[in-house]
Amino acid sequence: MILIFLGTAGSGKTTITASFGEYLEKNGKSVGYVNLDTGVKKLPYRPDIDVRDIITVEELMKEGYGPNGAIVESYDRLLSHAEGIVGGILELDEERDYLLIDTPGQMESFLFHDFGIRITEHLSEPLVAYLFSPEILKKPRDYCFVRFFAIMIALRLGTTTVPVLNKVDLIKEELPSIRRLLEEVDYLNARLRLDPSMQGLLASRICSFLPEVSSPVRVVYASAKTGEGFDELETLSYEHYCTCGDLT
Ligand code: GDP
Ligand code: MG
Repeated sequence: MILIFLGTAGSGKTTITASFGEYLEKNGKSVGYVNLDTGVKKLPYRPDIDVRDIITVEELMKEGYGPNGAIVESYDRLLSHAEGIVGGILELDEERDYLLIDTPGQMESFLFHDFGIRITEHLSEPLVAYLFSPEILKKPRDYCFVRFFAIMIALRLGTTTVPVLNKVDLIKEELPSIRRLLEEVDYLNARLRLDPSMQGLLASRICSFLPEVSSPVRVVYASAKTGEGFDELETLSYEHYCTCGDLT
């Protein structure tokens, strides 16, 4: 079972790789850890496969690259190693019950670079957990944005993608209303129609396609800090593995 954590910088990919892995291991599962981030300094888990063994952003900055140039260059250089990395991942996947893949800090290094495509296209039925944080959910149109972003990831990578709201430990009483807007498309559409701005109108039109383009994939509410939602994430990963992508 291969689970890829994807999300914007700071959404909690590295933290959840460590804490979800620990949770699985406590439940008697064997877990493999893969780090695909060339820029990370310290990891809270011990990676079995680590792209930093090949190249790091720090080394490239010593060669004279600026921070952004070094990130892009690191994935350019990793491209010629993609086959070897995939081979290592597939081998590790044979040995372990779960394989957790921590992706680049900046999500575009994975989604907009051939490196991410080359890695994912060779893995067998990986499940992508798209992590997002509660702070981006301010207006109803933001809910439309995250639902579509999960679909865009599925479109780009060709993977089943589960939206995971991480850091739920930071929200308490707002959770029921957040859940309603994320899960009830009709309710979200009704709220969007109340927004007279151009963005509101656009969101309302885009979101009316949601039932058509998205299977009713479940949203996971998790905290990489407290372990909340890990049981649901484990169940989903398992169901995905058994049913090859049907998470309705
Ligand atoms: P990444 O860039 O996606 O790998 O994000 P990190 O795992 O490095 O996390 C970024 C920051 O968010 C760190 O300070 C984490 O401690 C914090 N963080 C991650 N997950 C959670 C969570 O579930 N709850 C809270 N409160 N903080 C979190
Ligand atoms: Mg990280």
